[in-house]
Amino acid sequence: MKILVINAGSSSLKYQLIDMETESVMAKGLCERIGIGGHLKHTPLVGDKPVYNEDINLPTHAEAIAAVIDKLTSAEYGVVGSMKEIDAVGHRVVHGGEKFACSVLIDNAVMEAIAQCTPFAPLHNPANITGILACREVMGNDVPMVAVFDTAFHQTMPKKAYMYALPYDYYQEDGIRRYGFHGTSHKYVTARCAEIMGKPIEELKLVSCHLGNGSSICAVANGKSVDTSMGFTPLAGLPMGTRSGDLDPGAMQFIMNKHHLAIDEMLNVLNKKSGVDGVSGVSSDFRDLDSAAGEGNERARLALDMFAYWVAKTAGSYVTAMNGTDAIIFTAGVGENSGDTRKAICDYFGYLGVTIDAEANKKRGEDVMISTPDSKVKVFVIPTNEELVIARDTRDIVCGK
Ligand code: ADP
Repeated sequence: MKILVINAGSSSLKYQLIDMETESVMAKGLCERIGIGGHLKHTPLVGDKPVYNEDINLPTHAEAIAAVIDKLTSAEYGVVGSMKEIDAVGHRVVHGGEKFACSVLIDNAVMEAIAQCTPFAPLHNPANITGILACREVMGNDVPMVAVFDTAFHQTMPKKAYMYALPYDYYQEDGIRRYGFHGTSHKYVTARCAEIMGKPIEELKLVSCHLGNGSSICAVANGKSVDTSMGFTPLAGLPMGTRSGDLDPGAMQFIMNKHHLAIDEMLNVLNKKSGVDGVSGVSSDFRDLDSAAGEGNERARLALDMFAYWVAKTAGSYVTAMNGTDAIIFTAGVGENSGDTRKAICDYFGYLGVTIDAEANKKRGEDVMISTPDSKVKVFVIPTNEELVIARDTRDIVCGK
């Protein structure tokens, strides 16, 4: 069975074609600048086919999907003989609100429900809908499509964890609560961690740290998300590349009054000009911050220290929420690649009996235990694979499992 995984943004579209017999990626790629020009990078990963990397006209998502299918099936760059070999499509959908606690086969009612969640994710859900419609247009109605939601994994959070201490009507009437994001990633790395530890996930308490451009931490007890750091939107929780994370709303009011900012301008600052970028004034990229801090830049040092501190104290609060933890997992761009950041975070975990193996902590790009064998709580680096979760869910739903 071959499954096409689609992650559609407002002007971009990422894809992978996965062979489910071997769970291997046959080809992957990215369409960018959709609607404002167009560029397609297509990388075949089977056979000896060349990479396609060109500017092409992509006025809409439908043209982008058509270009992707064309490359996937072409003699020069293709990995399948025809579109008929693609058995199903799995779509990443950012927000499923309280309606979706798991992945679903897409039909008209599901499309309607995804559209109803648009107020919660005004930038993402419309793009995801556009991606689904574009696939329908190009591939027809016979190819089954499945929606996999970033929020679904967190629907198991208990009410005491997801409620905001606001007037109750805001929850009841308007759905204002914590939803959480990165669910697909947290689900993948915690399941993989259980596999590596050789224990049923139902018997484990795990803290999953997804640290990338966007960062969130998730407490997973017995395979279920019981708390997570993002909230009503992905702006909450940890300081991130350019996002502020948690902030006293009173500070916002003060800044808006002092600098005559409208709420949209304020949110633009909190989403795009804050985080480690805002604090350091150097960059949102941890590689740049590491080199600047190494050269004595104090604000870059401060941004890195703040990040490690926030990750450690949030993870610590989840150890409390679960009354202990068996393992801590690092994943995503920073979590997988920055040994210095992992070390700085783990230095806070002495009270948990965590000790880090400096050599193992240097490894990259593979599943690795970075704690010493006698460390009371184990620490793992597990490269995330959200596309594989989407493909597996799609297969299971299409095959009626
Ligand atoms: P996204 O949230 O956009 O999916 P990623 O998970 O790909 O982001 O993470 C991207 C970030 O990972 C980069 O901005 C950079 O800060 C960090 N990163 C990538 N490689 C390294 C590295 N070798 N050392 C430190 N940080 C890295």
